[in-house]
Amino acid sequence: MKKMIVSVLAMILLANVCIQENAFSQQIIYKDTQIQQAARSISVKNISGTIDTLVSFTTRHNLSTRNKPDFGIGAAARFIKKSLDRFSKSGVAIADAERIEYRAGGKNTRLGKEITLENIIYTVHGTDKDDNRVIALLAHYDSRSFDNTDSLIFAPGANDNGSGVSALLEIARVLSINPLPVTVKIMFLSGEEHGLLGAAHMAALAKTQGWNLAAVLNNDMIGNSRSSATEISNNTKLRIFSENVPVIETESMRKERVFNSAENDSKSRQLARYIKEIGERYVENLEIKLIYRNDRFGRGGDHTPFAREGFTSVRLCEYHENYDRTHQVVELVNGAEMGDVKKGVDLEYVRKNAAVNLVSVMNMALAPAAPSNVKIDISGLSSSTQLSWSAPEAGKKPAGYYVLVRETDKSNWERKIFVKETSCEIDISKDNYLFAVQSVDSDGHESIAVFATGGNLR
Ligand SMILES: [Zn+2]
Repeated sequence: MKKMIVSVLAMILLANVCIQENAFSQQIIYKDTQIQQAARSISVKNISGTIDTLVSFTTRHNLSTRNKPDFGIGAAARFIKKSLDRFSKSGVAIADAERIEYRAGGKNTRLGKEITLENIIYTVHGTDKDDNRVIALLAHYDSRSFDNTDSLIFAPGANDNGSGVSALLEIARVLSINPLPVTVKIMFLSGEEHGLLGAAHMAALAKTQGWNLAAVLNNDMIGNSRSSATEISNNTKLRIFSENVPVIETESMRKERVFNSAENDSKSRQLARYIKEIGERYVENLEIKLIYRNDRFGRGGDHTPFAREGFTSVRLCEYHENYDRTHQVVELVNGAEMGDVKKGVDLEYVRKNAAVNLVSVMNMALAPAAPSNVKIDISGLSSSTQLSWSAPEAGKKPAGYYVLVRETDKSNWERKIFVKETSCEIDISKDNYLFAVQSVDSDGHESIAVFATGGNLR
């Protein structure tokens, strides 16, 4: 069976090589039934129920009480923890939910005083002990209204970020019955609305504990499908923000980037392209748009503290935002409804966006680790391109590799060439194309792409 799949893969790829000009109409898409079924099991009803419960706590403001059973951020944290505990109990994967408390704020901070906040982390442990990769999904569960010092006013946060939390709870449920080779950490974070505090705490922890964090997917506002003012209704587009130039870039990294023309090929950009390809492979009626910036103007998200620690991080976000709803007081203004109430959440859109996360994580976790040391031989002038790379050191062995090719003025990889060895020669000029390599297993699960470089400036 496996052999057959490899040869099918080889045929598909050979076909792609031969008919590159019209590849789209001929493209054969292979789908893994386990991933497909998992994606199909994401429940709109569960998403809806989670948002209702979160909204029922009136506010999840970071300065709100942690002691009341049905009001404030503490009630929300306990609801999330309880749901996760239920999944670890009923599921087949080894999974646990932990509360991680941290001190935040102080006199001259946005919080105005020092307080204790908590993140809830759900770890679905990987089954392959040789593979220590970790994939992280993030969503903040705190909320705010217009006045960010008011911890009592109704701040439903149905979309910001009830949408992200409800999606991640569904993914936690589905992964608890679909164990994966690689560990997945699903993080429900506090402190976002007062300066990305919970994410900063987790990113620092990941760094000091030396996690092999392969990818970080932040979900923040993934449920609104109607724009304010322009009134565009569309739930068929999702944005992925990824940084162009890494925020951690050093002078030697800068030189290497310039030398290799890698402005559009940061690790985050490769992750964004990966999510686009896998997301669109499994989720219908959704176009995933790569946004060539880390986040929106003047606004941030929980992926940024992870990027600052050097991790490969992206933000998934709705394509159209509604400024009458986000961070607004819930009220009627000239007959128009303001505020982040559930009515403004498109549940089917949340379902699709949750599925994008799930299929990307599953495909990545089922794939071998990415290759390393992916190099273009630039020692001589020739009309062909020689590439070489090293097999991943740990985890499952790849059945082969995909060499990805695109023209320098294209956004997405255009060709995928299957190669069994750790080197190849392609009869096109290295000066006219960009290249990357993915590891792939016998079932067609591919790793994130690693950009091919000609080394550093010499
Ligand atoms: Zn938010």
